Amino acid sequence: MLWEICRFSRSVKIIPLPERKEKLMRLPRAIIKLTEAFERLPGIGPKTAQRLTFYLLRTPQNFLEGFAQAILELKEKTKVCSLCHSIDETDPCAICADPTRDQAMICVVEEPLDVLAIEKSGAYRGLYHVLGGVINPLDNIGPEQLHIFDLLPRLKSGKIRELILATNPTMEGEATAMFITRLVKNSGIKAQSLHLTRIGRGLPTGADLQYADDLTLKKALEGRKEY
Ligand code: ZN
Repeated sequence: MLWEICRFSRSVKIIPLPERKEKLMRLPRAIIKLTEAFERLPGIGPKTAQRLTFYLLRTPQNFLEGFAQAILELKEKTKVCSLCHSIDETDPCAICADPTRDQAMICVVEEPLDVLAIEKSGAYRGLYHVLGGVINPLDNIGPEQLHIFDLLPRLKSGKIRELILATNPTMEGEATAMFITRLVKNSGIKAQSLHLTRIGRGLPTGADLQYADDLTLKKALEGRKEY
């Protein structure tokens, strides 16, 4: 049936569909395209996506050009470190390449932003290992999808004295820390030569390292316990 009641009219008026289509306001394709792109970002719903698009529409052209350039350069000018899987401009990253860092300590974190948070706290001078997430069966993320197994060759070098498990104190973070502990213990690496520790004190359960303040993070690192 090609007839529909026009809802915008107070009096019930019946108009044929082709005519109704012409009466609806059509957004320019560029606006629709950008709104849809924003909608694909985490935490952005259709309304926020539209708001951001219209905000950008009001900004000067040179701002938009700089913004677009920054997006283009995001992947071109960043590298994933082949040793620790953190993000930097070089591979190996500045931390892995720094001989003044304590080469006998590895701190295992979920994301590159956790590295940044710990670096900001100034409480740690060792190396890192970025997992790229946590084990989460509900999202189909198993240890194979993370940088867990390539931690073992780094430990087997025999130079590592301490492995700090600094995944978030969430259910998934704890499960991931447990998995790594079991993996390391079953790998034949001598327990006497390697200490496995877990950060904790000061960080409430369910907390996110990235949002913890410097002092809490410093205390959590200093208060790490044998795991
Ligand atoms: Zn690195």
